[in-house]
Amino acid sequence: MSERIGIIGGGIVGIALARAIAQRGLGEVTVFEKEDRLASHQTGHNSGVVHAGLYYAAGSLKAQLCTAGRTALRDYCLQKHLPYREVGKLVVAVDESELPALAEIEKRSRANGVPDLARINDVARLHDIEPHVAGVAAVHSPHTAVVDFAAITEAMAQDVRRAGGTVLLGQEVVTMEVEGATVRVGTPGSEHRFERADAGEAKAARTRGQPGAFGTRGCQTGVSRTRPLARRAAMTLRPPTLAMRARKP
Ligand SMILES: Cc1cc2nc3c(=O)[nH]c(=O)nc-3n(C[C@H](O)[C@H](O)[C@H](O)COP(=O)(O)OP(=O)(O)OC[C@H]3O[C@@H](n4cnc5c(N)ncnc54)[C@H](O)[C@@H]3O)c2cc1C
Repeated sequence: MSERIGIIGGGIVGIALARAIAQRGLGEVTVFEKEDRLASHQTGHNSGVVHAGLYYAAGSLKAQLCTAGRTALRDYCLQKHLPYREVGKLVVAVDESELPALAEIEKRSRANGVPDLARINDVARLHDIEPHVAGVAAVHSPHTAVVDFAAITEAMAQDVRRAGGTVLLGQEVVTMEVEGATVRVGTPGSEHRFERADAGEAKAARTRGQPGAFGTRGCQTGVSRTRPLARRAAMTLRPPTLAMRARKP
């Protein structure tokens, strides 16, 4: 039988994770979202910018993921006919004192391969791009884009459903209990059972008389155990996004 995987939080992170799991056939995924619609918190209230990788340290994982994510997101929006507007971005030095910082951003941007990056020292040229800008120099990233992350989340949720997953709205996870190999997730009025990712390991540890193995890996970040190492550990939640039966770290 297919594994059941639970994800708490229907923002872009939870839904994208659910989509990846469902489409890869890694398990039977269920997303719990407490609100009546997806993306109603941070995802639906951010600046909508698809960052081009201007600021991250060269070679860092953030820089790599930003570059890969930008391409993936652009392709996804094109494929789904979702808005993807390459309005570009200007990072401006408002006076001479900000030139060293601007030079550092330019250096990082080039190291990160931000496409078609241009340094602008000519104020007239700056005003051609943005008439209302005030500054002495700028770095221009023409391919920085804006999107509608709420629409993207909805589209990805459709992908989850099409791949056989379930997205539950108005289902706030209020309790989580680990009992042996089982994780019981409670929402007001319903209970859902999942098996712990490390169930086999937990069983082996129990055989060795090590109750401490319980609860350490079955649930990922966002959970704090109120009774550590207990055989039946009550849990309090600190979402945003939490995956049960996730891959072992
Ligand atoms: C001011 C600002 C601007 C930003 N601008 C950008 C930008 O331009 N571009 C960009 O890429 N990123 C931007 N970000 C970052 C981006 O918005 C976040 O990284 C992203 O939205 C996080 O998504 P999430 O799914 O983790 O969180 P959320 O969107 O907050 O989703 C968490 C979900 O969990 C649900 N939830 C919480 N508790 C429970 C529970 N107990 N049971 C069930 N559901 C629960 C909530 O209802 C919510 O829907 C910005 C961030 C900020 C703060």
